[in-house]
Amino acid sequence: MADNPKVALVCTPHPDDAEGGCGGTIAKWVKQGTKVVYLLTTNGEKGSANLEMDPRELVEIRKKEQMEAARILGVHEVIMLGHPDSELEDDKQFRGEVVRAIRQHKPEVVLTTDPFRRYGFQHRDHRVTGQVTLDAVYPFARDNLNFSEQFKEGLAPHNVSEVYLWGAEDPDTFIDITDVIDLKAQALAAHVSQMGDPAKVNERVRNMSKRWGERIRVEYAEAFRRLGTRPMPPAPRG
Ligand SMILES: [Zn+2]
Repeated sequence: MADNPKVALVCTPHPDDAEGGCGGTIAKWVKQGTKVVYLLTTNGEKGSANLEMDPRELVEIRKKEQMEAARILGVHEVIMLGHPDSELEDDKQFRGEVVRAIRQHKPEVVLTTDPFRRYGFQHRDHRVTGQVTLDAVYPFARDNLNFSEQFKEGLAPHNVSEVYLWGAEDPDTFIDITDVIDLKAQALAAHVSQMGDPAKVNERVRNMSKRWGERIRVEYAEAFRRLGTRPMPPAPRG
């Protein structure tokens, strides 16, 4: 298990998804010296119930909120692909963009949202981001003959060791985030346009993280399904 990867890439659909899914793990790894890069795939401009809201204004608001959340967690770089909210497609262009980020930053670990949910609804952008990220990791970023035009930009093929999927229905990997629970709550609360009262965000984050913490007998944890290309130790059972 990559306890302390050198580089981690977080492929995330909307502003606020990464903080909710893996904000504690990011904060913990950053403290241990990991370079964390965000690849934000959409603008999130449909994230409002207010019919008077100008989507262009919301794009700017959510960009600022995302940058503040990333600052709180210590994320080193935020790449924004700027796709329209709810219009992501599993196509060659998007796949190439994720492959480019992987080849540029050479992460050992990629974190993204689990596209394989069977028992509940899932936002289309989440499913497409998760699926395209998995395809980009294997085999597209790794293979010489896929997106070989990127080699002219100096981008060599790269082999990612592990993928962590948040939002999994059947998580098998739990990360202790007890020391950084406040940072996770603060980062999520930075998405003011989505989250509202920071005290309630704090309470929600603690309740959710406590439930996963019970699985490994710590106070707070985050939960993932882990996919690896290396042999892995058995998953902890609660
Ligand atoms: Zn989302």
